[in-house]
Amino acid sequence: MNRWNTQHDYYAEVESDAASAVKETGKWGMSADVSDHLHEMADSMVIYTAKAHSIMRHSREHNAAYDQGMMEGKTFESSGESATYSAYFAYYQDLATAFYAIDEEDALVILEMFKCPNCSDIFNNEEGGMMEAHYRPETVCHGCQEDLLEEDEDIRAADESDQG
Ligand SMILES: [Zn+2]
Repeated sequence: MNRWNTQHDYYAEVESDAASAVKETGKWGMSADVSDHLHEMADSMVIYTAKAHSIMRHSREHNAAYDQGMMEGKTFESSGESATYSAYFAYYQDLATAFYAIDEEDALVILEMFKCPNCSDIFNNEEGGMMEAHYRPETVCHGCQEDLLEEDEDIRAADESDQG
């Protein structure tokens, strides 16, 4: 999409770009290499002048370049050049805000990952097991599943001997 019709459309794309950044980096939250990645995305976002103008129309951060003191001593040869420069900062700011708003829970959904509630290790979804044992109906990793099933067996055996 080269232009957005509404601010809503623009921010929908910013959010999906932020999710892509999580997918591409495998990370969420603040870090230096993630910031580099976001800057690269901003670079490629403003290649087309039409898109840069559209960012400047829809972004709530259209003053970002001024706010960050990046306009000091700057002169531009055309309105297109000025829009491209300013849109870079506006889009980066929007993208970074959307990216850092993605918490661990959201990130794991985006990455199709699973955090074991028992050992707190993170796995691919396929590696996550489903505890179907009566005593602990929760989803845990396979390693924990084996341990917990064994514990459940012990609990069950103790229950049965109580009843017997
Ligand atoms: Zn586990």
